[in-house]
Amino acid sequence: MSYPVLIAAELRDLLEPDQVQGLEVNWLPADKAITKGDWVAIVPLLSRWVGGTQLKYLPKVRIIANCAVGYDNVDLVAAEMRKVIVTNTPDVLTDATADLTWALILACARRLVEGIDLVRSGQWTGWHPEQLLGVELRGRTLGLFGAGRIGQAVGRRAVPFGLRIIYAARTAKPEFERDTGAVRVEWPRLLAESDILSLHAPSTPETKGSVNQDTLRQMKRGTILVNTARGDLIREEALAIALEEGHLGAAGLDVYAEEPAIHPRLRAAPRTVLLPHIGSATHDTRRKMAAIAVANVQAVLRGEPPLTPVYR
Ligand code: NAP
Repeated sequence: MSYPVLIAAELRDLLEPDQVQGLEVNWLPADKAITKGDWVAIVPLLSRWVGGTQLKYLPKVRIIANCAVGYDNVDLVAAEMRKVIVTNTPDVLTDATADLTWALILACARRLVEGIDLVRSGQWTGWHPEQLLGVELRGRTLGLFGAGRIGQAVGRRAVPFGLRIIYAARTAKPEFERDTGAVRVEWPRLLAESDILSLHAPSTPETKGSVNQDTLRQMKRGTILVNTARGDLIREEALAIALEEGHLGAAGLDVYAEEPAIHPRLRAAPRTVLLPHIGSATHDTRRKMAAIAVANVQAVLRGEPPLTPVYR
């Protein structure tokens, strides 16, 4: 028996033939809308919104297997009402995203972009004792907003750097606290005490716009803000203003509210390290993400429970 499914065309080269065996795949490019059909499963990229309207075109769909750990691009209420299973790709991208977060922390603290620009410009005049002085990490405080898989992985990497760790999450993480000395605090204290504030919460109605004009003011002068979670956690214009005014030390961003657009004022702001949403972009991780997404489809079509459902 062969099942008609829609899979993001951009995943084609990451999948082995045996992984899609038994599936009658229609490869759907990211820039093409979903067309009506008897598809029983869809594997979208995180850039595709799958809501009530899209589900109307998919009357037979049984699973939305999102190829990302975040699933803010899927209307869970619409899916649940239709009894459509939604899955994501947790765990396999934790290390890659935590590593990239650290690349941003270090790039901001040690002014890598300014250094690279100086060398490339041909204007570098040689070693100088006060050239491009950055922030020493040892003894400083790393604040984590969200301490799930990725937040904790970022925190564990902070121990050898000699950082004190504080975090805000809905629930306490005793094992993480025991292993790293991390202390759970409320959001206002996280804002006030972090020298580096790194965002690792999902985009939800509660977290959207968490970093705004008001909360930016509550951060210490010189704070480094890093975001590898979702862009809409930050109000981009307010962040640009805080950077222009010199209130924030630097911002290292991998994600934006309206990707691929970036607020022009933020793109032009000083002391930023801006990456094109590559948190999970390693060969190994992207293959594993595609594999899990399709394995979820295969399991559900066999009548088995999904491997990584986002709700039960
Ligand atoms: P996770 O394990 O579910 O962790 C999410 C954390 O956020 C949890 O600690 C959760 O608290 C906390 N949280 C949720 N709502 C909160 C709120 N209102 N206030 C405070 N904390 C809150 O997810 P993950 O695997 O670490 O991934 C985190 C996010 O990273 C994803 O949702 C995704 O958007 C993003 N991401 C981005 C990239 C990239 O390419 N840049 C790659 C992977 C993931 P509890 O533990 O108490 O529930």
